[in-house]
Amino acid sequence: MKYFILFGPPGAGKGTHAGALAQKYNLKHLSTGELLRAEIAAGTPLGIQARDLIAAGNLVPDEVVEGMIEKAFDSCTGIDGFLLDGFPRTLPQAEALDRITAARGETVTGVISIMIPDEEVFNRIAHRAEIEGRADDASKTTIAHRIETYHAQTEPLIEYYRKTGKYHEVAGFPGSIEEVRERVLELVENI
Ligand code: ADP
Repeated sequence: MKYFILFGPPGAGKGTHAGALAQKYNLKHLSTGELLRAEIAAGTPLGIQARDLIAAGNLVPDEVVEGMIEKAFDSCTGIDGFLLDGFPRTLPQAEALDRITAARGETVTGVISIMIPDEEVFNRIAHRAEIEGRADDASKTTIAHRIETYHAQTEPLIEYYRKTGKYHEVAGFPGSIEEVRERVLELVENI
């Protein structure tokens, strides 16, 4: 099984490019953000726990997303691997992923990182807020806090995966969606 990680700041285009990748390589696209939003919409205890954290631009606890990912790994069949979007987002999550894959006799295949500058994060999320109406996209303060959280907690993963030779990066800006998609597909072809 392949275990690809789509990495990058909020709004980098992970969700935008996941579909094409998942289809081309017969991967199950797992977005922790989408899974969490489904729990919130269904009003589950997990969703209730996650709702206010997400709306404020904070991360949900590591154990929560780790549990969701493990459950998804166990329940998917007929695929060649997974495309993780928005997970891992902290060092403990990355270590948990190593343990979870090791227990299955597998390992992370590669990290596909889409990089965009902070100003562009602001522009894109403000634009997305008008289209998707997500609570965590609505305020400048929340967006700024998510960018801070990304730099403080998620960016250290770059070094973590660089050390293992699994880190690969493309520019998510400048360029059209199609141009960035081409970069991503070409990168994965060479992993
Ligand atoms: P974006 O790409 O804009 O960051 P996501 O849909 O990936 O949006 O995530 C939305 C929110 O869900 C995050 O800001 C965070 O609160 C929560 N979340 C998603 N994935 C994780 C994770 N791996 N660990 C903790 N919180 C997460």
